[in-house]
Amino acid sequence: MHPTWPSADAWQQALRTLITDPAELLELLGLPSTLADAGADGEFRLQVPRSFAARMEPGNRQDPLLLQVLPQQQERVSVAGFGADPLAERVSNPRQGLIHKYRDRVLLIASGGCAINCRYCFRRHFPYQQNQLGPEQWQQVLDYIQTHTELREAILSGGDPLVTPDSRLSRMIEQLATIDHLQRIRIHSRLPIVIPERVTHALVTALAATRLQPVIVLHCNHANEVNDEVRAAIARLRSAGITVLNQAVLLRGINDSVAAQQQLSETLFSSGVLPYYLFVLDPVAGAAHFDVPDAEAQQLVGELQARLPGYLVPRLAREIPGQPSKTLLMPRRPR
Ligand SMILES: *Cc1c(COP(=O)(O)O)cnc(C)c1O
Ligand code: SF4
Repeated sequence: MHPTWPSADAWQQALRTLITDPAELLELLGLPSTLADAGADGEFRLQVPRSFAARMEPGNRQDPLLLQVLPQQQERVSVAGFGADPLAERVSNPRQGLIHKYRDRVLLIASGGCAINCRYCFRRHFPYQQNQLGPEQWQQVLDYIQTHTELREAILSGGDPLVTPDSRLSRMIEQLATIDHLQRIRIHSRLPIVIPERVTHALVTALAATRLQPVIVLHCNHANEVNDEVRAAIARLRSAGITVLNQAVLLRGINDSVAAQQQLSETLFSSGVLPYYLFVLDPVAGAAHFDVPDAEAQQLVGELQARLPGYLVPRLAREIPGQPSKTLLMPRRPR
């Protein structure tokens, strides 16, 4: 099967026409404009690609895609334990744009921007402006990786690293590939989900051509996010031999049921994606209303495990500052 490719700049066009006005989004969905709390978003504005909004169900104020992006009044409620830097990233930042917390992997902040603003995101408070990778910083990052011979994998993260143009990404990948001890290149991105045209011929070619083994970790939280365009985008990645995984965040009112998680895993797998992580929420200020208690999360994944093959059950995990890896939460067997 030969994939058909989107035009090289369709995704940039989509980025230029994001919906940023809550009233416009609600009107498109036939919902009252009073549902949004315009004052709740502060610096972190509503931002949604049109193709993602088109997957929301008109008239449904509980739509699981809408709830991920709509600024709401609960965000103003301050809750103990939910702060501005839940992952203490600011302290493990040895070079600008680089986070080296786990022994053989290094995370690079390839871009501070995103195509979508997810309300539960820790990025809403992170000082990304001070963490952009300019040419000088990029050279320092390469030098750091070169001298740390324990590193096997470079992870392009952000923000969303795929906001970066293909020409620049290709160069970054080529330069990383010259570092002998690196074996893998990983990209963490929500873009192939929210703007599937982002999976361009140039991107796939760059990942197919490098000697580094390519892995893409998508971020999809609900089966409704996967439509035909997303399936086609994933097929384009897979046609080049790229391993495609997914990480999701467990979100109250959005995907906190066994049925929603089962449907997510099955839909992803039928599209060529394996579930990887299901994260419990980072305790970020403004997102407490999305929180699902650990015991409930463990119960939910226990039930999922009783229904699905092992390879369709994501690892339930959280990030705890100072730990050498993600921390797994064990599923609880249903009685
Ligand atoms: C999550 C994360 C990784 C990747 O962890 P995996 O368990 O390999 O997916 C690497 N570095 C940092 C700083 C991270 O936060
Ligand atoms: S795409 Fe990822 S990094 Fe960007 S706002 Fe959403 S959760 Fe945050």
